[in-house]
Amino acid sequence: MPPPADRQLARDIYQQLIEIRSGYTTGATTPVAEAMAARLKNAGFPESDIYVGGAVPAKQNLVVRYRGSGARKPILLLAHTDVVEARREDWSTDPFQLVERDGYFYGRGTSDDKAQAAVWVANLIRYKREGLKPDRDIIVALTADEEGGGPYNGVNWLLKNKRELIDAEFCLNEGGWGEAADGKKIDNAVQLSEKYVVNFRLEVHNKGGHSSVPVADNAIYHLAGALERLSRFGFPLKLNAATRAYFAEMAKIETGPHREDLKRTAQGSTAAMERIARLSPAWNSMLRTTCVATQLEGGHAMNALPQLAAANVNCRVLPDDSADYVRSTLERILADNQVSVRIVGEVVRGPASPPNPALMKTIARVTDTLWPGVPVLPIMLMAATDGLYLRAAGIPTYGVQGFFMDRDDVRAHGRDERMAVASFYEGQTFLYELVKKLATTGE
Ligand SMILES: [Zn+2]
Repeated sequence: MPPPADRQLARDIYQQLIEIRSGYTTGATTPVAEAMAARLKNAGFPESDIYVGGAVPAKQNLVVRYRGSGARKPILLLAHTDVVEARREDWSTDPFQLVERDGYFYGRGTSDDKAQAAVWVANLIRYKREGLKPDRDIIVALTADEEGGGPYNGVNWLLKNKRELIDAEFCLNEGGWGEAADGKKIDNAVQLSEKYVVNFRLEVHNKGGHSSVPVADNAIYHLAGALERLSRFGFPLKLNAATRAYFAEMAKIETGPHREDLKRTAQGSTAAMERIARLSPAWNSMLRTTCVATQLEGGHAMNALPQLAAANVNCRVLPDDSADYVRSTLERILADNQVSVRIVGEVVRGPASPPNPALMKTIARVTDTLWPGVPVLPIMLMAATDGLYLRAAGIPTYGVQGFFMDRDDVRAHGRDERMAVASFYEGQTFLYELVKKLATTGE
């Protein structure tokens, strides 16, 4: 546990971040950037080392530099400050209040991604107070619009407009966390690669007509039938380097009846993969590209036959699968030539980060000191992060947090998002020790 004053500081920052409404579509990230800039100035960081800026006035980013000797290239510590929308009526607590209850912090962004943002800032202020003399600059970037990306994405914008501010040997980001099950810590995951996102718009157009004279050729029915076929489809199960290592490691950790299937999954047995995929939605997502309908629209009047029916299908694609492959597969499965399928927006597909044995060793050492016996596990993330832009721009990015979360109770993006109070403070210590080692010992 961090010293009480540093715990309090991290908690205060966390609360401030949660209570600023930075919803991806309805909120602003600028108040977050400004509030953190003010705290850093108060803590003695010179104005010249603090940058606030971004694509538009409401979507600013913060970049702060803790100066080291310059012997080695900087490291970048990244967290995004926007959150997925949350409505009061959907939650048991107010999503934009930090509520501490039954050993958990509740609030939108408590896990994704304001815990890491709060800890980066609190730890940087602590290093300053303690007079840490790193041999490289430590850069913290708190950025806009990770959720859904788009034109105001802070990482993309900084890479294009202010690359010198965030250029680094490597970056630590969200995307890896501690996995727990039944209250037991299983592994501390480090994310090396990730699935990428492709959204498809499905559309059916029809001439419509008066609803008193219905015909079989109906836009909504065409779309509904296609989506029903999609709901019963699963992409092929397959492995890559990160997931093979993950399942091999899980087979060593698992003591229950699934141990043999985990082992055989790592060896590529399709039958075992099928059973493992059925056991857990998370394992299913690791083993295949997934596509799911997320939004619907259609019709223009209660008493008219629909002229348009449309859906968004959100696909999380394995790094080895191409967007064209996914599109042609969808067209085959939807099996209705009235349903058009087109890619929405820009597709960003980044490489896996190269293995970094020195970094992995340091992560393993800090992990083992805090949680003896808990292994460090390389993973491919099912979701997408801003690491994608950095990897594509040549800055290897590793997802590591040390916040432990129940693997069967993932609430990021959902209702009553939460973080165990103990996990928050343990993660604070973990990241404090990890960054200190990475910035002072040459490892
Ligand atoms: Zn996130």
